[in-house]
Amino acid sequence: MYSKTLPFDREFVEKLTEQFPTPFYLYDEKTLRRHARLFTESFAWNIGFKEFFAVKANPNPELLQILKTESLGADCSSFPELLLCERVGINGEDIMFTSNNTPATEFIKAKELGAIINLDDLTHLEFLDYHAGLPDLISFRWNPGALRDIESVIGNPVEAKYGLTTNQIFEGFALAKQKGIKRFGLHTMVASNMLQDEFFRYTAKTVFELASEIEQRIGIRVEFVNLGGGFGVAYRPEQTPLNMKRVAEMIHEEYDRLITANNPAPLKIFTESGRWVAAESGTLITRVIHEKNIYKRYIGVDACMAHLMRPGMYGAYHHITVLGKSENSGFPVETVDVVGSLCENCDKFAVDRALPKIELGDILAIHDAGAHGYAMGFQYNGKLRCAELLLQENGTVRMIRRAETPDDYFATLNLK
Ligand SMILES: *Cc1c(COP(=O)(O)O)cnc(C)c1O
Repeated sequence: MYSKTLPFDREFVEKLTEQFPTPFYLYDEKTLRRHARLFTESFAWNIGFKEFFAVKANPNPELLQILKTESLGADCSSFPELLLCERVGINGEDIMFTSNNTPATEFIKAKELGAIINLDDLTHLEFLDYHAGLPDLISFRWNPGALRDIESVIGNPVEAKYGLTTNQIFEGFALAKQKGIKRFGLHTMVASNMLQDEFFRYTAKTVFELASEIEQRIGIRVEFVNLGGGFGVAYRPEQTPLNMKRVAEMIHEEYDRLITANNPAPLKIFTESGRWVAAESGTLITRVIHEKNIYKRYIGVDACMAHLMRPGMYGAYHHITVLGKSENSGFPVETVDVVGSLCENCDKFAVDRALPKIELGDILAIHDAGAHGYAMGFQYNGKLRCAELLLQENGTVRMIRRAETPDDYFATLNLK
């Protein structure tokens, strides 16, 4: 069993709440940098390797800035995400634009920034040409379709709206070559939150094989393969975390076998992880404001599903620590539901969770909320988004996004 630790204690957080009312997100810069470095170090064997942080997982520009100093690029899929990168100074081929069902304005902005454009459909080549003109470099997203070997693990890519079929991939590269495009990349992403390392070997193998076949059949050189995101996080303490070093070694073995042995030209490996890079660095801090005993015992906190949607939306597990009452420290344990205040019964951070006995005023830390946490927040029921704080490497805390006020809620209206 892996235990879940936190880089702060109750006293530290109590002090913070005097300045910043709960709920808020608290990010740990050290953890974020450690993950970014582990990624690049693990793939150091591949000349030109780059991890493009999936901005959708956490679009806070201060965090993007930190990741930029760790030489990560950014993976974008919307106009505002592109603007964020521009503001932070992430430009050109440090941006991967992996979008789908893309509006013309977004292609135009991506082209203007010199981003690597990763097309999600065969028709997007003409669409891009018409609206923005073609760049020198183009990438296509491959949907492998039926994958009998691993379908039980990842679901059926035939049901996924993304990417080109295998036949279309060949057609796409042939057309791109004919249109005078000079540089080419290949992308795929078929799974999410994957903790089985063999899955990444399998993905790399199939993409390396396809890249070689494209080169032979179309007579072009594939400059990079983008393995997408999907690197999993062990949200439950009993899960085994993904060993990034091991994953990179497995991909290295396939690379030596399929690329180095046949093709003297180097092939760059790119990734687009959001979750693995950022999840563990973020914690949602919330205070217990009510307890309610009916058919079950409910612990009511001041955060709700509008601040962290994953548990309510997917039944996702997020570990919860009652600050100051560490597990196995002899506190009596009780089984509770931890709930927010939305008028939706799915607004629960935990169901039937065994936790040290909770009292009003206790502070709960909801772990691994740094990716797809704040980012998926919403204002349903008039719930306003909370603040984001950064625990910096020097031990001090800085607010990196203020909490919303009712003025923000009314900002888009013309209320007299
Ligand atoms: C969501 C997404 C990612 C990031 O996924 P994680 O699970 O956060 O690693 C990367 N690429 C694309 C195209 C995505 O849609």
